[in-house]
Amino acid sequence: MGLESALPHDSVLTTNLNRVVNWARRSSVWPMPFATACCGIELMATACSRFDLARFGAEVMRFSPRQADLMIVAGRVSVKTLPVLQRVYEQMAEPKWVISMGACASTGGVFDTYAVVQGIDQFLPVDVYVPGCPPRPEMLIEGIMAIQRIIDADNIPRDPTGKRLSLNIALTPNYEPRSQPRPITIGAT
Ligand code: SF4
Repeated sequence: MGLESALPHDSVLTTNLNRVVNWARRSSVWPMPFATACCGIELMATACSRFDLARFGAEVMRFSPRQADLMIVAGRVSVKTLPVLQRVYEQMAEPKWVISMGACASTGGVFDTYAVVQGIDQFLPVDVYVPGCPPRPEMLIEGIMAIQRIIDADNIPRDPTGKRLSLNIALTPNYEPRSQPRPITIGAT
């Protein structure tokens, strides 16, 4: 869907124009933050000067779904909130992508209760899963770079009826988790 759908297929012009369109899209991803819990704080941290999401052209957080093309679900989603999440996703412009940030969004995390959705991928086509509780800002940036690679590869899979399929890319952690619990030192050393 979009500009490229109006072009003739299999021509050199189409191929080159597609490349330019994809380059423009991957360089100006506009996220729609759906932050419901602690992961949202890490999401905010990615935009600060230390991590500087602007380096990837993706710092323009839009709270208007019609102006956004990347949904970042950061935090647990309750069953009551789910219809809102789905509506916001449906209002976003095509083509659009979804990142599931953190254990809660991807699996329900530690909230194994009837009130919390046990993985948003049951209801939304998730493209990239970012691991962690919470994921560090670098990990989220890794997820956004994965989305950029998907856009570069012109990879928007659809089924024969034209329905958007999810890409289901699970990132591996880019850090070594330390063993828990940590030894505690009390008093001056
Ligand atoms: S994954 Fe961890 S940090 Fe993120 S919302 Fe759940 S409990 Fe909070």
